[in-house]
Amino acid sequence: MAKKDLVCVSCPIGCAITVELNDAGEVVSVTGNTCKRGESYARQECTHPERMLCTTVKVEGGRLPVVPVKSASPVPKELLFACMQEINQITVQAPVKIGDVVLKNILNTGIDIVATNEA
Ligand code: SF4
Repeated sequence: MAKKDLVCVSCPIGCAITVELNDAGEVVSVTGNTCKRGESYARQECTHPERMLCTTVKVEGGRLPVVPVKSASPVPKELLFACMQEINQITVQAPVKIGDVVLKNILNTGIDIVATNEA
């Protein structure tokens, strides 16, 4: 049996959550959360952690040399580095509008990378 202490990031309250895992790495109990979202977050974080990916992409012919981008949905944590490498390879052509997909289906995850500003 192992214990994992987390801080829930699902809302600004930031409850301290403790998760108990059995030897197979399965969640046995979740305590400290004050709502269901905290339990979902803790289970996800212990079994299949994900993160939103926020970075920039090079722009050609724009007002600025880069445009900020983010993943349209959270990316499996273990793929973050590979996704960053993929994103670093591309250059988009200006003009770029907010919400434009700059990279579709990154690493076959089904997740698009979208612009969060204009360039
Ligand atoms: S457990 Fe619920 S109340 Fe606590 S930080 Fe998470 S979302 Fe907010």
